[in-house]
Amino acid sequence: MFMKICGLQKTTLLDFPGHVAATVFLGGCGLRCPFCHNSDLISMDAPALMEPEELLSFLKKRRSVLDGVCITGGEPTLFPEDLERLLDSIKSLGLLTKLDTNGFRPDVLRRLCAAGLIDYAAMDIKAGRSNYPSACGVPSLSIEPAEESARLLMEGSVDYEFRTTAVKGIHSLSDFVDIRSWIGGCRRYFLQNFQDSGRVAQPGFQPFLPSELKTFLDAVRETIPQAQIRGTDLDPRDF
Ligand code: SF4
Repeated sequence: MFMKICGLQKTTLLDFPGHVAATVFLGGCGLRCPFCHNSDLISMDAPALMEPEELLSFLKKRRSVLDGVCITGGEPTLFPEDLERLLDSIKSLGLLTKLDTNGFRPDVLRRLCAAGLIDYAAMDIKAGRSNYPSACGVPSLSIEPAEESARLLMEGSVDYEFRTTAVKGIHSLSDFVDIRSWIGGCRRYFLQNFQDSGRVAQPGFQPFLPSELKTFLDAVRETIPQAQIRGTDLDPRDF
C-alpha cells in the first residue's frame, strides 16, 4: 500500500489558522468514526486524484499566493515515509505545513516534529477517554497512542491545537469533563459542532443546540480557559 492523494482544495482561509492554504486529502484511515464526514476517504481503496509530482507542480505554480499546505485525510500518518517525502518537498517550496491527525501514530508524529517537517499540528480529541472506542467505531481500541500524541504535542515546541467535533448521540457532558482533565492547560482547544456533510459514515446524527454546546464549553474552560467554539454561524458573543 502507498499514500494516495484523493482530494485537493486549491485555496482555503479556514483550514490553516491565519494562513491562505491549499488542503490535500490523503486516503485511508484505521478508525471508523461513525460520524466521519469524509467517509469516502477512509477506505484504503479510495481512488487517487493525482500523483505527488502533479500536486507539487501545482503548488510550485501557486506558491506566490499560498502561505502553506494543510495535509488531512483520512489519516495522513498511515504512510509515514511517503508523508515525510511529501512534507519535505512542500517545505522545499518555501510553504508552511499543517498536519491534521487522529493521533494514533505518535511515533510518526514525533519523527515529523523532530525533523522540523510540520509547522502546525491539529489533533482530534475524539471523546472522553472511556468513550473513545465507541466514538472511533473500533470496540477494541486502546487509546494509549492518542494519549502519547497529546502529551508529545503539549510538551513539544511545534505549534498545535486540539479539537473535538461534538455529535449528538455520541457525546455527552461527561466526555467534556474527562477531556478537561486529560488535556487541561493545553495551548488551544476548539469545540466544533457536528454538521452533516452529506457524506457521513452513518447518516442520522444531529448537531447539538447552542445552549448544549455552551454547557460543554463552560465545562472545558475550567482547565482550558481559552477554549473556543469554532465553525458555527452562531453569534460568537454568545460564547
Ligand atoms: S473522522 Fe475518524 S474515521 Fe474519519 S478520517 Fe477522521 S479519524 Fe478517520
